[in-house]
Amino acid sequence: MPLRDGRLSHDIDPTDRPPQDACGVFGVWVPADQASRAEVSKLTYYGLYALQHRGQESAGIAVSDGSRIVVFKDMGLVAQVFDESVLNTLRGHIAVGHCRYSTTGSSTWENAQPTFRSSDAGGLALVHNGNLINTPELAERLEPGVLTATTDTEVLTALLATHGDGGALAAARQILPATRGAFSLAFMDEGTLYAARDPEGIRPLVLGSLEDRGWVVASETAGLDIVGARFVREIEPGELVAIDGDGVRSERFAEARPKGCLFEYVYLARPDTTIAGRSVQATRVEVGRRLAREHPVEADMVIPTPESGTPAAIGYAEASGIPYGQGLVKNSYVGRTFIQPSQTIRQLGIRLKLNPLREAIEGKRLVVVDDSIVRGNTQRAIVAMLRDAGATEVHVRISSPPVSWPCFYGIDFATRAELIAGNLSVEGIRDSIGADSLGFISLDELISASHIAKDNLCRACFDGVYPIPVERDARGKHLLEVTR
Ligand code: SF4
Repeated sequence: MPLRDGRLSHDIDPTDRPPQDACGVFGVWVPADQASRAEVSKLTYYGLYALQHRGQESAGIAVSDGSRIVVFKDMGLVAQVFDESVLNTLRGHIAVGHCRYSTTGSSTWENAQPTFRSSDAGGLALVHNGNLINTPELAERLEPGVLTATTDTEVLTALLATHGDGGALAAARQILPATRGAFSLAFMDEGTLYAARDPEGIRPLVLGSLEDRGWVVASETAGLDIVGARFVREIEPGELVAIDGDGVRSERFAEARPKGCLFEYVYLARPDTTIAGRSVQATRVEVGRRLAREHPVEADMVIPTPESGTPAAIGYAEASGIPYGQGLVKNSYVGRTFIQPSQTIRQLGIRLKLNPLREAIEGKRLVVVDDSIVRGNTQRAIVAMLRDAGATEVHVRISSPPVSWPCFYGIDFATRAELIAGNLSVEGIRDSIGADSLGFISLDELISASHIAKDNLCRACFDGVYPIPVERDARGKHLLEVTR
């Protein structure tokens, strides 16, 4: 298992990984006569930097100068994969970029993105956030032996490069209506940047404009902010957009059936991102306020699990009147090169990444706020650590409902058997983590705080209602590796 950057992934205990983010996608088009000034490869690099929290296994950028597409990708964080000299070789006026966490297919160089295909019609480079659920059915449309990688994205790229005699746009019109699952895409041929989003719009994708007549697409608005692009609008569910010298052209390949991922608000998106016109930070603080009203408790201090619990802890403190404080310090520099503890010193576990502030905690009744519970190991260790440091009571509050079901649309949770809420009641979880009390925000309150209608959200990991039915044999990260 690749090691993660503790600062970016919220990953505290390597044996109890939090939900793994799906991927970050970024695309940029500028007029060819402004390419040298705009330096699209650097814009893409910065965009990926802002989206790094969405995927930390590999990174890549493809650039076109109008006649040729060049791709550079490798395993690692964006800043590890690219340096100035590499970016200087990626010249052109169109680019797409990607940072990956693997959802279908292993974490290998071949499966890193952008994926690239050439055909008689030219080259096609593609980046994808989400997970398809009819990959085997799509793969049947390809000639045997065509695939070189083992991802749903590779299948989609091969289909778009080889179908439709009129190039990428014609192929997209043919293939996208038959594609099911979550897909926020940016792709390009030599002369045009394209963006598309699945009819449910499960993963986010936004369009922005650059001052000098350029256009940007990104997974989150934070990816626009970093390159100085102005937010224009979201790419609509079921929409296909083409961007070139003729401007932005939009068409529908399917009716919109919006089912945006509720978990983006809880955990996945950056706090400074805006989804459907509402700041993620504002939503998380509001969830904390509602959590305080749903699960009040007498206590002396509210502390977050840094940093994922911070906005909800602020809201909890505000609504409850209990002072907010810092009780745990996170070592932000536990990165990919960090040597993981051997089994014999694993009991040190969480202390390698979190340390309690004894003076702040001693003799106090604490409320600890976190964003989610996966296996429960992290919360169990935190409760024990706080008691060791002198807390007299530890009350745990969680700003999402219990995560009881796996996600098939691009987020890698543990399996249902590994999810603590898939097996235990709330009281059972409380007992297991050793807290004095435990409270989860209700699904209705979380939805209400998002300001989005319940029917327009995917909540499947909380309530088991999957908006796009998933065949049993279409599940699994190593699907294509098994069938090959
Ligand atoms: S199952 Fe959960 S994580 Fe997956 S898309 Fe739905 S709400 Fe998001």
